Amino acid sequence: MSYLRCSEAALLLFTFVQLTAALKCVCHLCVNHTCETEAEGACWNSVMLINGKEEAVKSCLSPSELKGQVFCYSSRNVSKRNCCFTDFCNNETLHLSPGVILGMCAVQNLRCNLIKAHKQDPEVPLDDQTLVSTDKCLKELIYDMNTSGSGSGLPLLVQRTIARTIVLQESIGKGRFGEVWRGKWSGEDVAVKIFSSRDERSWFREAEIYQTIMLRQENILGFIAADNKDNGSWTQLWLVSEYHEHGSLFDYLNRYTVSVEGMIVLALSIASGIAHLHMEIIGTQGKPAIAHRDIKSKNILVKKNGTAVIADLGLAVKHDSNTNTIDIPINHRVGTKRYMAPEILDDSINMSSFESFKRADIYSMGLVFWELARRCSMQGIYEDFQLPYYEQVQSDPSVDDMRKVVCEQKLRPSIPNQWQSCEALRVMGKIMRECWYANPAARLTALRVKKTVSQVTVVKDVKE
Ligand code: ADP
Ligand code: MG
Repeated sequence: MSYLRCSEAALLLFTFVQLTAALKCVCHLCVNHTCETEAEGACWNSVMLINGKEEAVKSCLSPSELKGQVFCYSSRNVSKRNCCFTDFCNNETLHLSPGVILGMCAVQNLRCNLIKAHKQDPEVPLDDQTLVSTDKCLKELIYDMNTSGSGSGLPLLVQRTIARTIVLQESIGKGRFGEVWRGKWSGEDVAVKIFSSRDERSWFREAEIYQTIMLRQENILGFIAADNKDNGSWTQLWLVSEYHEHGSLFDYLNRYTVSVEGMIVLALSIASGIAHLHMEIIGTQGKPAIAHRDIKSKNILVKKNGTAVIADLGLAVKHDSNTNTIDIPINHRVGTKRYMAPEILDDSINMSSFESFKRADIYSMGLVFWELARRCSMQGIYEDFQLPYYEQVQSDPSVDDMRKVVCEQKLRPSIPNQWQSCEALRVMGKIMRECWYANPAARLTALRVKKTVSQVTVVKDVKE
């Protein structure tokens, strides 16, 4: 008896010690299929029924996800879940009992309720009742995710469930990687960026950047889920985000002109999105400074309400201010050549300073402002849509073509005279010039641009 108690105590102590240390776990969505928990985290192992098939998800749980143990309980008819506390203890593959598979409490019913119920009472394990479908919508789910304070993404289980219950509708865009589709999830439109398996690193990188703590902001594309699905012969890699029917700013400006107010709202939201990316927020729930590295009108999306969001974070880099390092090895000259800052074109950029990457973003933003301001209709007068340097280079220019124009001839897009007769366009013209300086240190910051643009609206309001 006393022997038993002693061993129980030892086990408890052992468990406690294990609980406090960081762990290595098997992880489906991670590079090398391995993740590392923070101290007091756990390895997570689960299997659930999706479209009638068993799907296993293995990953790390953060201490806040572990708290309340909601992810560690199985739900009778839907899934098995298990938390454990030794290195790679989630290696074993779980299976549902045949009764569960036949019972078919459809996991498609897993909606916002999953998160809602968990939030209301995290002590309550997820069971069939919490999985019953209601009319909760994606926006609520994302809002909850935003305010839950536990990192910056939905639990992997939920991400995977959402991704696997999306029905693709139509292809809406093509970029550097794969294809972007409009899809339907639970009656709502979502955008799905599909990467080919050879671009796995890009998929992983973009998903990772979107899930940076505190990244969510109204002018950054709202990330919903990442999923990798092996169909036996290849792996499908999905990145799910909010869908914006106007598409990119490039598409929008090709199709429409904008009013002065419309231009200011777009310019302000672009500057706000970039300022948020660039800003470091200090603290445990802080955010590193991030540089985008591919700012252009095709990577900015226009929302229904006329504001913009920054998208395509696949090339972004994060700054660790403690060690003054960048989180990935820098392969020089990424991004779109037409929008490359002069110091990138002539290779004079100081890669050891993170500021350099922010300043290069600002240069590109200046070019986007120029594309935007040309489409501002003032008493029915506006310019046609053009890409920056359309007069100097052909489509798909080389680095050398761009370098000759931007660095050697020191040309910049021309600013039409008539902009001088409108306060807002005059200010926009001035901002552009100050974003385009050859000397990166002389350029405005995103925060400065944001402030200046927001004052334009004030001036205008006062005049009216
Ligand atoms: P890539 O990395 O391949 O360049 P992007 O993320 O830039 O991919 O997307 C390519 C294009 O798809 C965009 O220029 C835009 O036209 C369209 N697109 C991307 N995401 C969305 C979205 N959330 N809503 C609507 N259209 C989108
Ligand atoms: Mg793109």
